[in-house]
Amino acid sequence: MTEAMESLLDDLVAANYILAHEGVLDVFGHISVRDPINPQKFHLSCSRSPGLVTRSDLMEFDLAGTVLAGDGHPYLERFIHSGIYSLRPDVQSVVHHHAGPVLPFAVTGKPLRPVFHLGSVAGLQSSLWDSQDDFGDTAMLITSHEMGLSLARSLGQGPTGLLKRHGAICVGTSIQQVTFIAVCMRDNADLLLKSLAIGEPDYLTEGEVEKAQKLHSGGRPVERAWEFWKSRVPSE
Ligand code: MN
Repeated sequence: MTEAMESLLDDLVAANYILAHEGVLDVFGHISVRDPINPQKFHLSCSRSPGLVTRSDLMEFDLAGTVLAGDGHPYLERFIHSGIYSLRPDVQSVVHHHAGPVLPFAVTGKPLRPVFHLGSVAGLQSSLWDSQDDFGDTAMLITSHEMGLSLARSLGQGPTGLLKRHGAICVGTSIQQVTFIAVCMRDNADLLLKSLAIGEPDYLTEGEVEKAQKLHSGGRPVERAWEFWKSRVPSE
């Protein structure tokens, strides 16, 4: 394995820990990365709580969600990742989470839009996908590639989406960027909930979202956050 690949997979393990430590992922939820050498496959842990994931837990999947390598029980919802990687060639990393402050928006369908500068990285408004529309009554999990594709279609070209009565997805151009987007999406939802409780929220304008998103979606802001978060990951 090349040094770059070793480093990428180390970062995937670190992102699992970081997202658990930051409270975005709990017992459930996951983060994956597309393989930079063969974009027709991706890396994702076996079914394990993110805070416990190590290098030996990582598995490989093709873009239909079929296991290519690795032992252990794959996540039932690996098709979230396969569906998005299939339809979004620009996406290199995917997070699926059920962060507490985001869920009321997934439950009510009330628009999740940026109300502070860092919320802009989640886009102008998170898309909303309801499994009822294409699949009727289900166990609410994304357990087939067809479901993953349906979800990916509703996401469109945006960075974040809500799964009705279930959770959320975030996509990015790197592990570092999608980790940043997931934390900011959660923080923005928390702020919006608190704002709704005391008054009418003053959402960022479309122009503000565009400019703030461009400024914060890469470069120094993402590097600065990643450096800090990674410094807190215990070494194995
Ligand atoms: Mn889920």
